[in-house]
Amino acid sequence: MTPANFDFHCHSSVSDGLLPPQEVARRAAGNGVDWWALTDHDDIGGLEEAAQTAAECGMKFVPGVEISIEWKETPIHIVGLGFDPKHPALVDGLEHLRSGRVERAKRMGDALAAIGIPGVFEGAMGYAANPSLISRAHFARYMVSIGISRDVPGIFQHYLTPGKPGYVDHRWATLEEAVGWIEAAGGVAVVAHPGRYKMSGQETRRFLEEFKDIGGRGIEVTCGSHSNDHVLHFARLARHYGFHASRGSDFHGPEESYVDLGRLPSLPEDLKPVWRLIV
Ligand code: AMP
Ligand code: MN
Ligand code: MN
Ligand code: MN
Repeated sequence: MTPANFDFHCHSSVSDGLLPPQEVARRAAGNGVDWWALTDHDDIGGLEEAAQTAAECGMKFVPGVEISIEWKETPIHIVGLGFDPKHPALVDGLEHLRSGRVERAKRMGDALAAIGIPGVFEGAMGYAANPSLISRAHFARYMVSIGISRDVPGIFQHYLTPGKPGYVDHRWATLEEAVGWIEAAGGVAVVAHPGRYKMSGQETRRFLEEFKDIGGRGIEVTCGSHSNDHVLHFARLARHYGFHASRGSDFHGPEESYVDLGRLPSLPEDLKPVWRLIV
């Protein structure tokens, strides 16, 4: 039997994706996705439209979100899946996280002005369909538009990553908060793209142990930014810790993504797919 084509990680213009939720849904269905979750950063405002379009396309839909946290000063992303989008703990927690983003974006604008690039906060806001979800991706798109670098990765490399002039420290949610909100709302917490964090093997294991202890149940094994070696490595860790495995493209838009919706390798066959926890 062919395994289910599930894609549980992608973004719409409700956060830093380029397409509105309806178009992301139609594109997922067109690419043969059977089970789909929209996982915008820190915002669940797109879920209703996403669910409706998914239903029109005959595609199973799972409510999702990608929550920004920091753990021992490392920024990490936790995907929540299959929760009640009206649960007050989740709704209030995310609202608080978003208000921090606007304040951070102003500080980024000030930092860039200080090196002679003024007006970037205002310019980036022009790229954010949802102003309360201003992200570094909007800064990068605006900065490309005014010719600061040729492409978005170039902007990140020279201006928007730790140690670079437009990067400012920020207090995100804690691991406990993010997992707590997701669990309270009846959902499943999953570590997003574990191969992307700047942590040693030992730190990664400590993080996964803590995540499991407080109720985390899954990790992304196959995802847009994982190499084949990452897939093998995190498949081993999923087996070791008894995590369910997730699969997600992290699609942001046609020209800004590692891989298109649903176009990922299948999970290693012996792993427990995370969709089994969501029925
Ligand atoms: P933020 O949540 O505001 O810190 O922005 C993080 C987002 O920026 C990620 O979700 C990606 O969409 C994007 N991003 C982060 N690093 C890079 C990079 N090196 N190149 C391109 N986009 C990136
Ligand atoms: Mn993003
Ligand atoms: Mn992420
Ligand atoms: Mn993402």
